[in-house]
Amino acid sequence: MLEPDENQRLILDTVDRFMARHMPSEEAGRRDEAHTPPYDLLPHLGEAGFLGLPVPEAHGGLGLDWTTMALVQERLAWHAYAVGSIVNRVVGFGAMSVLSYGSEAQKARLLPRITSGRCLIALALTEPQAGSDAGAIRTRAERSGDGWVLTGGKTWISDAGGADYLLTAARTDPDSRGSRGVSMFLVPRDAPGIAMTQIPKVGNNCMPSWEIGLDGVQVGAEALMGEEGKGFSGLMSTLHYSRASMAATVLGCAQAALDLTIAHAKERKQFGRPIGSFQTIRHRIADMQMRVDATRLVVRHLAWMIAEGRDSSRFASQAKVQATECLQFVTDHGMQILASAGYARESAMQRYWRDARLYSFGEGSNEIQRDLIARQLGL
Ligand SMILES: Cc1cc2nc3c(=O)[nH]c(=O)nc-3n(C[C@H](O)[C@H](O)[C@H](O)COP(=O)(O)OP(=O)(O)OC[C@H]3O[C@@H](n4cnc5c(N)ncnc54)[C@H](O)[C@@H]3O)c2cc1C
Repeated sequence: MLEPDENQRLILDTVDRFMARHMPSEEAGRRDEAHTPPYDLLPHLGEAGFLGLPVPEAHGGLGLDWTTMALVQERLAWHAYAVGSIVNRVVGFGAMSVLSYGSEAQKARLLPRITSGRCLIALALTEPQAGSDAGAIRTRAERSGDGWVLTGGKTWISDAGGADYLLTAARTDPDSRGSRGVSMFLVPRDAPGIAMTQIPKVGNNCMPSWEIGLDGVQVGAEALMGEEGKGFSGLMSTLHYSRASMAATVLGCAQAALDLTIAHAKERKQFGRPIGSFQTIRHRIADMQMRVDATRLVVRHLAWMIAEGRDSSRFASQAKVQATECLQFVTDHGMQILASAGYARESAMQRYWRDARLYSFGEGSNEIQRDLIARQLGL
């Protein structure tokens, strides 16, 4: 399960060549400093096939299994987290949403564009009063002629400013509460009535976050994605994909932080010895290695379950928690071991450490994941 087969090895070699050409580590650092998202790379990622790995060939993808997807995600993020992360959003959110609950017309129109890197979809779910409690959303969509008019506001929406569409959750049944009566709409980002403000933040500089106002935004009937009033079931049907892809991405970053820590512990000398010879440092690194290896097992197991078509929702929550907490452990201890060398702006460690902080509460907090796991255990 852990070792890539011959075909996967060839694909990983392609990832290495692609990243050496398009995103060497200095470039990843430069982009982080300049807050430049890798949107310009999307057509190249599409051409290399990385945006359509698990998408059937009939829809412009490569039709490969989720184990290959997890391996590629991990390797992309090992090279540059920002690239693994955008591939996760394009495939895990965008492509898999359209594939799982889009109409045949939406699949035909959007999937070839998504997989070739020519269409970016941002997921617009969160609102100021509706974070973990997503069922508290107030944005509403009212029928108007053949189409709909959306009014409300969203917050913390990644990529909204660079997206072609905002996949927007809105209440279509005004009398509904919680997860019922919500529908998903593919709203063109440049539709009249949309206002956006960027939210300054501490990490993930290459994934801009946006506050969005929707003031009477008119969309056609074709904008509805999935069944009216069943938007949350549509979203639920894709969560194992986005969590599998995200956990693999996070794992790649954890491996990169661990590699940097080991190299530093071998090279840096204090008191006449490499710091890696001090027991407190070597034991800490041993703990980091054990967590990364355990996470890899969990991530690959989840990918295998998806590939086998098994019910993987509990395992998806477990992988999300395990990977994000592993990344925080590794970057926290990595920073301690690199000390001033890691705190310097030029070090990749400070970037890993800042980026890592998000993921235990982003994309469904780990408290909520633990609740979902417990619920599936009958508690
Ligand atoms: C950088 C960034 C990017 C994001 N990108 C997107 C995006 O692209 N699209 C999108 O729709 N959203 C996005 N989000 C929103 C993200 O999904 C939410 O931040 C997340 O769901 C948590 O919501 P919240 O921040 O409002 O925290 P809150 O819901 O206010 O939670 C605060 C704390 O309380 C805990 N808590 C809440 N309820 C419970 C409970 N029942 N039991 C135990 N503990 C609980 C939480 O775990 C957390 O620790 C993004 C957020 C950030 C910061």
